[in-house]
Amino acid sequence: MAQWIDGAALAKQIEAEVAAEVQKVQAAGVNPGLAVVLVGEHPASQVYTRGKVKTCQSLGMYSERIEMPESATTDEVLFAVDSLNQRSDIHGILVQVPLPPQVVARDVLQAILPDKDVDGFHPVNVGRLAAGNAVLKPCTPAGIMEIFKRHRIPVRGQRAVVIGRSDIVGKPVSLLLLHEDATVTICHSKTRELPSVAREADILIAAIGRPALVDDTYVKDGAVVIDVGVNRLESLDKIRELFGEGSQRLADHARKGYTLVGDVHPRVHEKASYMTPVPGGVGPLTVAMLMANTVRAAAAQARISVFA
Ligand code: NAP
Repeated sequence: MAQWIDGAALAKQIEAEVAAEVQKVQAAGVNPGLAVVLVGEHPASQVYTRGKVKTCQSLGMYSERIEMPESATTDEVLFAVDSLNQRSDIHGILVQVPLPPQVVARDVLQAILPDKDVDGFHPVNVGRLAAGNAVLKPCTPAGIMEIFKRHRIPVRGQRAVVIGRSDIVGKPVSLLLLHEDATVTICHSKTRELPSVAREADILIAAIGRPALVDDTYVKDGAVVIDVGVNRLESLDKIRELFGEGSQRLADHARKGYTLVGDVHPRVHEKASYMTPVPGGVGPLTVAMLMANTVRAAAAQARISVFA
């Protein structure tokens, strides 16, 4: 039976540490500021961006949300980013994805000054990550590494299998694991015999976006399983199949019309040594690492040392 990893509790711990660093930076005369740009009315993005601004403010930092209409053009978004690049009270800029289809996401993400790129998606920061000297690491992968560190889960020499090769999760977490001396295999939709490759993992990371795809046939006894997926599950039959009759998930569905599930099948809990829940696992850590990146960005711009 796996031990559940409480991402919300770890996030609280990290946020308390961030708040202490914020005070140090403020004592040196700088108030860290984060701007969150939201284009359009994507319901999940509205919730995420509000949460990011609120958490930032609760840690004593300045934060604002810039809302742009669904019809905004690439040029209009670029103009907004450029204005934020020039503001000395804004140290971190985040443009929430997904962007509406007419906006060229790559152009927008590349327009953010690398030193203000708190998501760590700019090619300069991707290069620094690959070279092993990133200051601003992508938040979800950095949050996953905090799980290993804070639970004293060994990484060095371990076999790590990452399912998913996105620029946001799969690739960067693979690099971070490699820098910590894991032996890393990256899998994707064209990987052959995926369950048997995954079964080699001491550390298995699922960042796929397919509800409960990773079942017990993918997992070796005692593996550490990190479930990054966040999927809305609406089918009552599927919810019953995964969680059983009488599960709280059915009440969740009755209230909202869906329940959030990860990429990992609940049955894996019986085989793994550690496992992250969805929700409440990796998600809260992503926000905590964004907060850490905002104070890091502000400190680096003012040449102040933090998290020493
Ligand atoms: P993505 O860009 O869609 O990438 C998905 C990856 O999974 C791709 O590399 C794809 O392979 C691979 N894949 C798809 N189906 C597969 C299959 N049947 N077998 C093996 N590999 C398969 O997604 P993402 O942005 O990395 O996000 C992944 C999941 O994590 C989503 O559910 C997302 O909502 C969640 N997420 C959560 C957080 C958080 O904070 N908790 C943050 C980011 C993302 P190909 O490359 O071959 O297409």
